[in-house]
Amino acid sequence: MSQYQQSVPEGILSLREKIVLLENQLEEIRLQTHVLLDIARALNASLDTRVIASNIISAIVALIGIDQASVCLYNDQTQDFEVIGNFNSETLSPQIPANLDLSFLHKVLSEGVTYYHSPEGLKDWEWVCCLPLQNAQHKIGTINIHTIRQPEITSEQMDFLETIAGHASSALENALLYAIVERESITDGLTGVYNHRYFQKRLREHISLCQRRKRTLTFGLLIIDIDNFKSFNDRYGHQFGDTILKIIVKNLQSHLREEDLIARYGGEEFVVLIPEASEKVILLISEKIREVVEKTQVSYPKTDLAVSVTVSIGATLWHSADSPSSLISRADQALYKAKGTGRNQSVFE
Ligand code: GH3
Ligand code: MG
Ligand code: MG
Repeated sequence: MSQYQQSVPEGILSLREKIVLLENQLEEIRLQTHVLLDIARALNASLDTRVIASNIISAIVALIGIDQASVCLYNDQTQDFEVIGNFNSETLSPQIPANLDLSFLHKVLSEGVTYYHSPEGLKDWEWVCCLPLQNAQHKIGTINIHTIRQPEITSEQMDFLETIAGHASSALENALLYAIVERESITDGLTGVYNHRYFQKRLREHISLCQRRKRTLTFGLLIIDIDNFKSFNDRYGHQFGDTILKIIVKNLQSHLREEDLIARYGGEEFVVLIPEASEKVILLISEKIREVVEKTQVSYPKTDLAVSVTVSIGATLWHSADSPSSLISRADQALYKAKGTGRNQSVFE
């Protein structure tokens, strides 16, 4: 001890120690606030749920030693959980911590409280922590942490985890809402297929893709129009007309390939974009569609009688000089011919 310190009275010394202690605590709080701000920024910087999940896990890994962690999203309709992010120090495979069954995650989410425990069946040096992700209106998901042979979580770390869960809930909710808005902006409300605007965008993209490729690459376009649909509505009513439209589209979707794009062009007209097609392929698909519609029988509720509609289809292939409008015009001309020569048929131009 120095000469100076020896002469300092006891009370002042302990006061000085307290000041140093408080300064250290203040510095720690300052650092934590910074880290939390960084985490909040990182979480809110993305609208992709998987990126957010990965940021949540990175924040937790930076905070405590863990062996396994996952972020699950809760699906209200199927009442199921989907793992959207995962950390596993050994296998890196996506999984919910061992011995945690889904009913347990349901419990955490429905009670809305953090679970921190050694569940039955796990060794007493293992622990599991599940944090609910939720807000006042929605159950969003859970953060699940599983650790083996790590020190227990301190109360400060738990406060930190719960604060991260709060930020994570709002970031994930924003991302989920954004996904809904984005999907609604490109789909048709009645039938659920893509809308006219989205079709035009994909058509332009398809044309530039084919123009960029050196080898000959083309694609097909079908315009499908329901026959005499005005009379159908007059006879059975618009609501039943809507029902038929929905059923037909659902049937068509199940018969199209994953890569084919179907969209509602307007009213009772639909378009199908068929990538990498030949005349033979698109005529086959076109005939398939015509047949599927013809065979779709729907029971009319007032009489219980089965009714059906038919479609006429204009089919064409993209030529290298085609713009979107010249391509659509040619398909339209083919449709016009199909209508003019008897309906319920496909015409290729
Ligand atoms: P065509 O065989 O020449 O195509 O005869 P059409 O009566 O179908 O004539 P057109 O295609 O010009 O008429 C479209 C009709 O489709 C008019 C409208 O009553 C009906 N329609 C358009 N959109 C909807 C819809 O969303 N729901 C219902 N129920 N009917 C629709
Ligand atoms: Mg029409
Ligand atoms: Mg029509």
